[in-house]
Amino acid sequence: MPDYASILKQYWGYDSFRGIQEDIIRSIGQGRDTLGLMPTGGGKSITFQVPALAQEGLCLVITPLIALMKDQVQNLRQRGIRALAIYSGMSKQDILVTLENAIFGNYKFLYISPERLATDIFRTKLAKMKICMITVDESHCISQWGYDFRPAYLKIAEVRRMLPGVPVLALTATATPEVVTDIQKRLEFREENVFRMSFERKNLAYIVRRTNDKAKELLHILQRMPGSAIIYVRNRRRTKEVTEYLIKQGITADFYHAGLDDATKDIRQHRWQKGESRVMVATNAFGMGIDKPDVRLVIHLDLPDSLEAYFQEAGRAGRDGQKAYAVILYSPSDKATLRKRIPDSFPEKDYILDVYEHLQYYYQMAMGDGKDCVREFDIEDFCRKFKYFPVPVDSALKILTQAGYIEYTDEQDNASRLLFTLRREELYKLRELGEPAEKLIQIILRSYTGLFTDYAFINEDSLAVRAQLTRQQVYESLIRLAKLRIVSYIPRKKTPYIIYTRERMDISQMRITPAVYEERKARYERRIQAMVDYVEECHICRSRMLLRYFGEKNEHNCGQCDTCIQRAHEHPSPTPSLQAEAICQVLAENPLTPAELRDKLNADKDQLNELLHQLADNHRIITQNGMLQIRK
Ligand code: ADP
Ligand code: MG
Repeated sequence: MPDYASILKQYWGYDSFRGIQEDIIRSIGQGRDTLGLMPTGGGKSITFQVPALAQEGLCLVITPLIALMKDQVQNLRQRGIRALAIYSGMSKQDILVTLENAIFGNYKFLYISPERLATDIFRTKLAKMKICMITVDESHCISQWGYDFRPAYLKIAEVRRMLPGVPVLALTATATPEVVTDIQKRLEFREENVFRMSFERKNLAYIVRRTNDKAKELLHILQRMPGSAIIYVRNRRRTKEVTEYLIKQGITADFYHAGLDDATKDIRQHRWQKGESRVMVATNAFGMGIDKPDVRLVIHLDLPDSLEAYFQEAGRAGRDGQKAYAVILYSPSDKATLRKRIPDSFPEKDYILDVYEHLQYYYQMAMGDGKDCVREFDIEDFCRKFKYFPVPVDSALKILTQAGYIEYTDEQDNASRLLFTLRREELYKLRELGEPAEKLIQIILRSYTGLFTDYAFINEDSLAVRAQLTRQQVYESLIRLAKLRIVSYIPRKKTPYIIYTRERMDISQMRITPAVYEERKARYERRIQAMVDYVEECHICRSRMLLRYFGEKNEHNCGQCDTCIQRAHEHPSPTPSLQAEAICQVLAENPLTPAELRDKLNADKDQLNELLHQLADNHRIITQNGMLQIRK
């Protein structure tokens, strides 16, 4: 067997594997299809990076978020490991070079976004690569049962079939039991093989606080508990309002949502990361990829629409292992607000088709036209023109995406796009643009094709390198060219867009199937109900509830969530220290098994276990041959 530990030591400097890391590595190292379930921050990356380094060949890594992909590639390169990435927004030329490198360049990792898997160029080149394993990160995205299904993930099975005998490692941080089964099925696992690390977060106290005055309660909590915090709210407007409120109260805060430009996002995240502002008020756009260990508080002012999302967001607190709190401020009207998301997310089918029809008027798209067209989509403009509300339109477009008629992407990962609004001949007649604009135009024309007929994805970074300009210069020149109406420039992350995956259809021929609509709606309803049940429950331990939802059986109560504290209040027991002394006294007489001890003390199992843990941690007792005894 390869010496995985020394690879870990050599490249990462870590002395040992964590939890189930090594089990996963061995399993995939033996060529078995493997599913690894580890909470966020648990250390999933190592589980494919180490075994790939231990063998010949290239590891294909499929992961949905471009920002994270770039991070990982950079991280590997810093360790002297050769890694590549392919994502939307790269020019054809860049993609080609990268693929050639993957074939001949002696690289170890090729990261790719799932949308790219379908392209002919990728598939042609893939046949020539020597792939040793396929890694599917965020693998829950392949399951329509999950909360974050991405149709592009379904392409992975096709790619897998092109690589017979190559094992798959699927990783995820959230998966309910049905999703765990589904992932393996969709990825065509040769046999079931799951490794699961407990999702229990011992240092995290889950609290649900009922209140009719959230602002006051929020302030109260922030004033009582020190340390870095994230506050999640549902919509963008609220992030700003809450931030202003906190600042007025003398608490440093910033807000974050997907509508901000990249630079602003970076600055704010950085400020918060360094502790210069204490609180980040954000929508769920904030989170993926943040690695701040000392977040003490995550507060939800609005309910997320699934426990999966909640667990992820709450889990950003206390990564350093120190005590942290995940608080939901809940008012009875929240339930109705959350349920309202069901019709918002699943508008009537007629409405969906109506939106589709209006999209064609909006783009003046003729019947039968449109295949492969990319169009900028300004939802507010669209709604103004046709008297729609944005929320159900957004949902309708998502459903049309699921149904395969269009591809609608919100601003997450899209690259900048550029279209020349002048004809090529007119361009040559232009004089006196001056540098750096002229040089830039030359480089653009050399780097991309089709710019005169439709938008093309461009990459400012690689343009900057080629034109020997700074990124800022490239950006400013493009803005200037846009103002001069020479180009139409859509900087990245500003506007969502719509891609026509097929020609414009007559709505009488369109089908929105139960798999796309009714079944997904029913699952959405179930997830919302689980969220409501969670906040309305006031007796069961919250940690247990969450773990059970993820299919983990947990024997003990956490002792620190609001329901546990409430229970302790209602049934006061002797103080723990007294009980601990009682245990020591009994064990001093003679060693006992845990069951014997429980009988003798007539103690509650959870409480006793907790105390035994404490005593063991304090080196006062040890276990030998299953018997508890006092440490001499
Ligand atoms: P995940 O993908 O599960 O969220 P990552 O792979 O990003 O987690 O790892 C989280 C952090 O834990 C990283 O900083 C990583 O270097 C660190 N880490 C992973 N495995 C180990 C280990 N065996 N020992 C020490 N640190 C580790
Ligand atoms: Mg990860």
